Amino acid sequence: MIADRLQTALPLTRRAVLRGIGAGVVAGMTGGCAARLAMPVDPAASAVPDLVDLARFDPRLRFDIRYARTDNFMGRVLYPVARAVAQRPVAEALSRVQTRAEAAGYGLLIFDAYRPWRVTKMMWEETPPNKREFVADPRGGSRHNRGCSIDLSLHRDGVEVAMPSPYDDFTPAAYRSFAYAPAEALAASRMLEGWMVAEGFVPLANEWWHYDWAEWRRYPIMDVPLEDVTAG
Ligand SMILES: [Zn+2]
Repeated sequence: MIADRLQTALPLTRRAVLRGIGAGVVAGMTGGCAARLAMPVDPAASAVPDLVDLARFDPRLRFDIRYARTDNFMGRVLYPVARAVAQRPVAEALSRVQTRAEAAGYGLLIFDAYRPWRVTKMMWEETPPNKREFVADPRGGSRHNRGCSIDLSLHRDGVEVAMPSPYDDFTPAAYRSFAYAPAEALAASRMLEGWMVAEGFVPLANEWWHYDWAEWRRYPIMDVPLEDVTAG
């Protein structure tokens, strides 16, 4: 009861969610069915994975891999290497978006791309049920697990552009429909969206930073650790 009331009363900042309230959720789930979850296999995914290292593929791209550090919503290191990899057609499209952004005086700032399934599972298990719209259910897998999603923002001369909310903000400010952010932030988000959509990405409604490659269904859910991906 007390825990329930606390959960409603506390402001749901990322740290409160995952350091405080989240800890109880994890403890509650240990030993439950979530602990025995196996990686899902999508029988319709027939494409052969062809992951490429985005930094090598297009040196113009910039990176801020928060999951390789502790300043992320989980508050701990999730990736042993600061690396972003994606399926080749995704990388090619992203490169074209970079060209569009450069023409307008901007550049792309990548937060995350391929994410091993085990990391998605960890995120789900440690996120309270009322905040799980922001994390993928490991039973279905994430499009990040297929190397087909990109979390990104814009920079201008190396300085991150202000967006409607911080990355991985678990509040309605992350929604694309959120209208109360500063006008410049909303404009920047929509500008990025326009370029991404023009190159074949589909924006996620409740996270301004997340885009899926339109053909994500063709690629299988993967659990290869990031450090083991031998990307071309
Ligand atoms: Zn994402």
